[in-house]
Amino acid sequence: MARIVMKFGGTSTADNDCLRICAGHIAREVKAGHQVAVVVSAPAGMTNELGARMAKLDPDHQHKDESDLVLSSGEQINAGLLVMVLRQMGYKARSWTGWQAGLITDDNHGQARLKTAASQQFCDDLDRGNIAVLTGFQGVTIAGKITTLGRGGSDVSAVALAAAIAADRCDIYTDVDGVFTADPSIVPEARLIPRLSASEMLEMASNGAKVLHSRAVELALAENLDLRVTSTFKEGPGTEISEGLEDHLVSGIAYSRDQSRVSLTGLKRGIGAAQKIFAELAVAGINSDLLALGPASDLTMFNLVFATSRQDHGPVVECLRQRQLADLYKTMDAKENMARISVVGLGLRSQYGMADRFFSSLASAGIIIDAVATSELRISALITNEQVENAVRALHFAFALDRNSK
Ligand code: ADP
Ligand code: ASP
Ligand code: MG
Repeated sequence: MARIVMKFGGTSTADNDCLRICAGHIAREVKAGHQVAVVVSAPAGMTNELGARMAKLDPDHQHKDESDLVLSSGEQINAGLLVMVLRQMGYKARSWTGWQAGLITDDNHGQARLKTAASQQFCDDLDRGNIAVLTGFQGVTIAGKITTLGRGGSDVSAVALAAAIAADRCDIYTDVDGVFTADPSIVPEARLIPRLSASEMLEMASNGAKVLHSRAVELALAENLDLRVTSTFKEGPGTEISEGLEDHLVSGIAYSRDQSRVSLTGLKRGIGAAQKIFAELAVAGINSDLLALGPASDLTMFNLVFATSRQDHGPVVECLRQRQLADLYKTMDAKENMARISVVGLGLRSQYGMADRFFSSLASAGIIIDAVATSELRISALITNEQVENAVRALHFAFALDRNSK
């Protein structure tokens, strides 16, 4: 007998028919003799709808604590409904909200981090042979306020729960067959990746492959927990994610559309201008990622381009307008609607020709790169949002991801 966590996403739990399909997967595992804890998301679209409704009432997002109460409600609906379906099928099941199961978080509403993930009572219930259906995405502060873990956070709930109850497996059921070499909704030739190391998955997820939340992968890596991503609607092996798989180079292409670009021209050389700017941004809590630095036509000057997340767009402009920074450059141009496109794979940087292939394929597709970054595991570029689909397809083709087999 194994102990397993099964997580079902929004599309997988969109309506009663979908919930019956989820219940079928759960029943299969129970019949195989396993103890099963389930994590559910809200029905597809519900969290967005609740967010949009609140944005009209509270446009400045002043009431983050109450917003979490509202946002977390979709998961609660699904937990109750799924339990009803399971009971009708003759199984013993009960729902658990975050607070009932002892999922304590910090008080950073909207982006809370879990401190504990499952009470003794929850484990006892599993031991008694009950199916435990937990609401994903939510927790509770020590003071008893409901929190949410950030968009897509049910993945985090599932992995944290799996670690807390020492599960043998954590299966993530979703609307695609597993992790693909690129978003299959954009690249029809994208291939299912049968096996992927957790480090590569972390790069894919951190660079926008939303099939798994990056914090869930981080946690799986830290806890040495194997994950499987598989389809709710189609039978298949899915993608196994575990450490220690190093038999391939490029695993996939990821993109994230929530970037903003800042271009500064006419910075004076030799006075530490770039250092002063990045030091101030760090103090303001603003992260910058991709970067390009080049000479200006006047060689005593240089130009600087870098990216931040779109939510930092306003704060970054405000910070750069401060007197002590505004004196360091001649012009500033800040643009939202930028995207980051990344090629992800183990040992990328140590392989000859990878950067060349990256830049030349984007250039031949007519894509203009504003800034770049590389690491052991990825090469990323800053491009405009409109160019994303072309760029994903060009890179997918250039790295032969439609052909290579692992
Ligand atoms: P869930 O509701 O099950 O959590 P999500 O919508 O959060 O599902 O994530 C699944 C979606 O992730 C897919 O429908 C797909 O469009 C998108 N996606 C982006 N990149 C990838 C990738 N490399 N492989 C698979 N899916 C991806
Ligand atoms: N329902 C939440 C969201 O849409 C959490 C999740 O789906 O994982 O972000
Ligand atoms: Mg998701």
